[in-house]
Amino acid sequence: MSRGPTDGRGNRTEISNHSFGAAVDLNEENNGLYEKCFAWSKKCALRKGGRYRPGEDPLSLREESPAVVELKKAGFLWGGRIAGNQKDFMHFSPTGY
Ligand SMILES: [Zn+2]
Repeated sequence: MSRGPTDGRGNRTEISNHSFGAAVDLNEENNGLYEKCFAWSKKCALRKGGRYRPGEDPLSLREESPAVVELKKAGFLWGGRIAGNQKDFMHFSPTGY
């Protein structure tokens, strides 16, 4: 349950692309899911996973990281570049969400 509107406790209420085997998370400990994050900055609020530290932690993914480049070639979009107030740096799927 990581998509759709939130319930009274702030939890998403719809099934994610992971449920269908159409999404993958990489290095969750180094590529967290952030909220209040229209554009990445250290002021974004970490919701899940470990801190995202591009340029400091070699396991924090960047646009030029081989995993990002190869997954994009395979048709996946990166959750670190999705529109809206979340950035999910560990996440890849055909839609990015
Ligand atoms: Zn994910």
